[in-house]
Amino acid sequence: MRYDVVIAGAGPTGLMLACELRLAGARTLVLERLAEPVDFSKALGVHARTVELLDMRGLGEEFQAEAPKLRGGNFASLGVPLDFSSFDTRHPYALFVPQVRTEELLTGRALELGAELRRGHALTSLEQDADGVTVSVTGPEGPYEVECAYLVGCDGGGSTVRKLLGIDFPGQDPHMFAVIADARFREELPHGEGMGPMRPYGVMRHDLRAWFAAFPLEPDIYRATVAFFDRPYADRRAPVTEEDVRAALTEVAGSDFGMHDVRWLSRLTDTSRQAERYRDGRVLLAGDACHIHLPAGGQGLNLGFQDAVNLGWKLGATIAGTAPPELLDTYEAERRPIAAGVLRNTRAQAVLIDPDPRYEGLRELMIELLHVPETNRYLAGLISALDVRYPMPGEHPLLGRRVPDLPLVTEDGTRQLSTYFHAARGVLLTLGCDQPLADEAAAWKDRVDLVAAEGVAEPGSAVDGLAALLVRPDGYICWTAAPETGTDGLTDALRTWFGPPAM
Ligand SMILES: Cc1cc2nc3c(=O)[nH]c(=O)nc-3n(C[C@H](O)[C@H](O)[C@H](O)COP(=O)(O)OP(=O)(O)OC[C@H]3O[C@@H](n4cnc5c(N)ncnc54)[C@H](O)[C@@H]3O)c2cc1C
Repeated sequence: MRYDVVIAGAGPTGLMLACELRLAGARTLVLERLAEPVDFSKALGVHARTVELLDMRGLGEEFQAEAPKLRGGNFASLGVPLDFSSFDTRHPYALFVPQVRTEELLTGRALELGAELRRGHALTSLEQDADGVTVSVTGPEGPYEVECAYLVGCDGGGSTVRKLLGIDFPGQDPHMFAVIADARFREELPHGEGMGPMRPYGVMRHDLRAWFAAFPLEPDIYRATVAFFDRPYADRRAPVTEEDVRAALTEVAGSDFGMHDVRWLSRLTDTSRQAERYRDGRVLLAGDACHIHLPAGGQGLNLGFQDAVNLGWKLGATIAGTAPPELLDTYEAERRPIAAGVLRNTRAQAVLIDPDPRYEGLRELMIELLHVPETNRYLAGLISALDVRYPMPGEHPLLGRRVPDLPLVTEDGTRQLSTYFHAARGVLLTLGCDQPLADEAAAWKDRVDLVAAEGVAEPGSAVDGLAALLVRPDGYICWTAAPETGTDGLTDALRTWFGPPAM
């Protein structure tokens, strides 16, 4: 069977992309090198924008069930929480959901939607021509080939797909070198005074340019990290041992605190790199395969998830033959600058968490700035991705921004706007005057749903004064109309984002 899309990698990016492609009707195969899901979590949470997107796909409640809400965000562990409360969102917090659970929920949804997932099958090489891609795979029963129209490498920071394409991955080498252990401790851990909400336990050693920090994952289990700056590992590729962590703890904190029952050991650096291109013909990259950085502020999983939501509907429409030819390239044009911004803010955080006494003035100044509401809000927007704005022609400040999850007054009562996006289609939202707009958009009704609301249930919303909005399947506003501007520009916007009208 020839697939529309083969995805290499069943991490959060590949799994979410599979869900989005299935909603667009694409025959989708996910290849995952590992035979079984891992039982440890790199990422521990999802940010507000990801929670909003989960709501838009009907997954929000499952993710929120029993997940603690972390209301204060973290920037460089400076001890001043980021405040998400001034954003126009129903989710002004980060949700504590271990990556294992995120992957479990997304796997369930991808399979339910009809994606095929082959575990224990690794992509080993690829060849493409004008018509498609031939993917070579090694599975439990040996090597074989798969044919597809498009291949997406969601295969993580060491991406085989990126390397096979010869796409450069330039960036910065590490200056922070850390070991991590998820474990129990027999002795009480020291409180990390002033080390920030993500480091309630820890020890700061300005003299060594090192720190130890611990964070509770569940009752009695902690994620302990010991970081050194400008002290490279003896061997970066060697697996971390319990002894490595004990030695690092003892050097920095004077004790290993009776560490035992170790669940996961790993290394962590602040290496940051971004792929110079996200696309080569019929092969694309998404998630860690095209950007890696220090996990400060917990942004990486969210970034990949949002790559997937940006790419899914565009690739789906390209396969369905409805997309304008330029649509697929807007994926890289829109997402590359966003990832570059995350690399920038995590590089800044990597300097701020370096206990070198020379940076003390910088840290103190940054703490003062975090107490200024405007600065705090600016950084909260960056970390949560609530501030994302894609380039979009037109003047209205909402153009290119996420549509807030408005409570709409409809003839069936009050209904949240997010519920109209479950099928990942475009939405033309009218607020009290639908007929001329409905007529104009009728030829796109196979791709765009008309949502005719009487208005918004809560006064003072972001859309006050607007008569209509056109929203892409990923929740970004691509056209707005005031009552006096009527349907001006609607046809152009529909053509740009959804292709020519149906015959
Ligand atoms: C210690 C740590 C803490 C973190 N904390 C956070 C956090 O709190 N919040 C956050 O947002 N992010 C965090 N991150 C980052 C986050 O974990 C990653 O950004 C995220 O996992 C990226 O998802 P992905 O699907 O793009 O790649 P990955 O999760 O790396 O998944 C790639 C998948 O591809 C598979 N694969 C690889 N090669 C092949 C092949 N050739 N064929 C088939 N399959 C292949 C791999 O087995 C893997 O399953 C953290 C990272 C670390 C290391």
